[in-house]
Amino acid sequence: MDRIVRINMTNLTTSIEPVPAAWVGLGGRALTSTVVATEVPPTCHALGPSNKLVFAPGLLSGTAAANSGRISAGAKSPLTGGIKESNAGGTAARMLAKLGIKAVIVEGQPVDDKWYSVHIAKDAVTVQEETELVGTGNYDLFGRVHSRFGLPVGVISIGPVGEMRMLTANISVVDPDVHVRSIGRGGLGAVMGSKKVKFISIDDTGTAPVMPKDAVKFKDAAKVFAQTLLDHPVSGQGLPTYGTDVLVNILHEAGGLPTRNFTSGQFAGHDKISGETMHATIVARGGEPTHTCHPGCQIQCSQVYNDKDGKYLTSGFEYETIWGMGADCCIEDLDDIATADHIMDDIGCDSIETAVMFGVAMEAGVLKFGDGKEVVRMLREEIGKGSALGRILGGGAANVGRVYGITRVPVVKNQGIPAYDPRAVKGIGVTYAMSPMGADHTSGYAVATNILSVGGHVDPLSKDGQIELARNLNIATAAIDSTGMCLFIAFPALDIPACLTSLIDMINARFGINLTGDDVTALGKSVLKTEHEFNLAAGLSKEHDRLPEFFSREPLPPHNVVWDFTPEELDSFWNF
Ligand code: SF4
Repeated sequence: MDRIVRINMTNLTTSIEPVPAAWVGLGGRALTSTVVATEVPPTCHALGPSNKLVFAPGLLSGTAAANSGRISAGAKSPLTGGIKESNAGGTAARMLAKLGIKAVIVEGQPVDDKWYSVHIAKDAVTVQEETELVGTGNYDLFGRVHSRFGLPVGVISIGPVGEMRMLTANISVVDPDVHVRSIGRGGLGAVMGSKKVKFISIDDTGTAPVMPKDAVKFKDAAKVFAQTLLDHPVSGQGLPTYGTDVLVNILHEAGGLPTRNFTSGQFAGHDKISGETMHATIVARGGEPTHTCHPGCQIQCSQVYNDKDGKYLTSGFEYETIWGMGADCCIEDLDDIATADHIMDDIGCDSIETAVMFGVAMEAGVLKFGDGKEVVRMLREEIGKGSALGRILGGGAANVGRVYGITRVPVVKNQGIPAYDPRAVKGIGVTYAMSPMGADHTSGYAVATNILSVGGHVDPLSKDGQIELARNLNIATAAIDSTGMCLFIAFPALDIPACLTSLIDMINARFGINLTGDDVTALGKSVLKTEHEFNLAAGLSKEHDRLPEFFSREPLPPHNVVWDFTPEELDSFWNF
């Protein structure tokens, strides 16, 4: 029997409640966004007591379905001012699902200045004062929480950046190898910090894997689904071999790799930071070129990157981070970028927001373009320790732009734009502008069709077909994010019909229902509309669904293209 866990941080009580009828068919993002839209006043302060932080495993989490172990977190974002969902791998989703917990809702705020931890086990949820681990980085914290319980519990935590409630703060989730996985975007770590929760530990002792209503049908569908992941060239070969960093050379060739704070679409040092170079470096140093962020991942795009001495340096070393610190900040030393990645995981800040912020700070002259050693120092000594400069930098790209009077600030709804220039990859530009999440490539990954020719091909430099493409992908993604599936299943889902049908078959077998493809599309539309309505009620308007002015004024080399959508064209995104 599924349940909702509520943790009231004002009076330090917990409750275990039945799932309201309206929430029974929801999971992951559909559930976090519904809870936030239902229970959080849209105009509340995101760091005040009225905001709520919701964690939810997906509809298929805890089952044997490949790639179904993502956990969603949702709240009103202190960065965008709108609703936010962000998700990560790790062990938490599987453990919560096995415990029969559909969502964890953290609400209120302590009246004292103490820190707390929350422990969730079979039939018991407790809140304790936490003194020992306050101020600790995530890597150290994970090890010490495991030691405290004497077993590999699930852990959801914040680092010092979250404790200081900076807008770049993320939430970290422990993975099976005790590495950090990040619920990265929107400053949700600051919300957890505002609730004074340093970490949540999860013990699934005494539970069994989630059993589908129809085990035979589920097993058959899961087999077909897993095979489609292996059969697609992107999920079956490209991502497992080179990780997401395979995209550096591809985007450089396409002229859409944002470079030197979004002033060019090509980076001269691209070879030094490419997926091919990263793969060769990992192999030469005895690392793991193929690795998983959660149990049951079939694609395994993660990796273990060692330093020059063959010692662990980082994992989950993503294209977005490597692009941001690399091309956007012009840092060509992969070891400097890997060191920055490790520190960001440890202190708990979003690598996309932080890298975009450093690009703006470099343009402002705070540090020099290409100075990887200074980035590492600033992460450790300024942001990680909360100096006055660190607090400014830790406020994110828009904050630094305002403080230093910079006009080339690549953000939408205050959130840093990821690794694809919207002038040269126009479909993803529509997603950046229109997603209720702020600039977020994962909301509707039009790069797949614009650049990788997955799901057909739409010319990345032309406006034709981009609104419809981005709309359809945003709807589909809102549904996928509700299943607990990793977004990378979208590659086979766009090209191999059996991928989507087997995914729906698994949901039906899991719950004993008869959803159709149209039902899944309706779910995605409903989630997007719920999120959009929350944002409108929170004070965001059409004018916030726009890209910064410089994208329309400054042609991007090498194609010399500008962002040229009219407001009316963009607003037609919501015609569904
Ligand atoms: S494909 Fe990559 S991001 Fe997705 S679940 Fe696997 S390791 Fe994690």
